Amino acid sequence: MVYLVLLVVIISYFYNQGRKGQIEYGSFTLKPTFGTSKVKEYLEKYFTFYQSLPPKSKKIFEKRVAYFISCKEFVPRKMSEVSWEMKALISASAIQLTFGFPRVHLSYFQYILVYPEQFFNSANQQFHKGEVNPQAKTIVLGWKHFVEGYLSKDGRNLGLHEMAHALRLENRVMNREYNFLDEDVLLSWELQATQAMKELANGTEDFFRDYGATDREEFFAVAVENFFERPVEFSEKHPKLYSTLSNLLRQDPKLLIGKP
Ligand SMILES: [Zn+2]
Repeated sequence: MVYLVLLVVIISYFYNQGRKGQIEYGSFTLKPTFGTSKVKEYLEKYFTFYQSLPPKSKKIFEKRVAYFISCKEFVPRKMSEVSWEMKALISASAIQLTFGFPRVHLSYFQYILVYPEQFFNSANQQFHKGEVNPQAKTIVLGWKHFVEGYLSKDGRNLGLHEMAHALRLENRVMNREYNFLDEDVLLSWELQATQAMKELANGTEDFFRDYGATDREEFFAVAVENFFERPVEFSEKHPKLYSTLSNLLRQDPKLLIGKP
């Protein structure tokens, strides 16, 4: 009997030791991951979305970025290595977009290819600043253009644009992250987006850049860029569209303006 009690005490001691440092995020527990402190350094220095979060959310953000890095293979192209700074900030753009979904880390996409700047795509014989290649399970980014996206709040952000493409694809892939976007809200988004794209194409809408009229995927990506970069202007110009996107992504960047 004494041995049994001792055994229970020992097991519960190690169980509690193991739980230390974990973060409760709703019903989801995120284990501490190697690299969280390195990630924090770059987020504090450069990432305004992270800087405007309350302390508890910051902790979650750091852990999710570190977790995202641990799940992906970062592949340098035309350069010697993908630095920790690059890994941290690229992953932060994915976590910014998915911050309303604790369990979503774009798991279908295994590889992140990083070029110093734009790169040549032999398939369509054009230079690209970024792209998502679902066949290769890859997100590709030109670092120079990724950084430019975060330097100004002009409604253009390469990182968020490409992550937005990846998000829509991830939602359709039959894996553990399948179908995380609310179907009714998504349907409502598609209807409103179709209308906005028509207006964009005939020149009666001028908030979004023309590229958004290309197709539904591009409109979503362009809308996401504006959602995070110009939330106040977006919500004033298109209140219904903004609130639908806010419901779809389960977050509202407008509330973070002026913080901390
Ligand atoms: Zn695009």
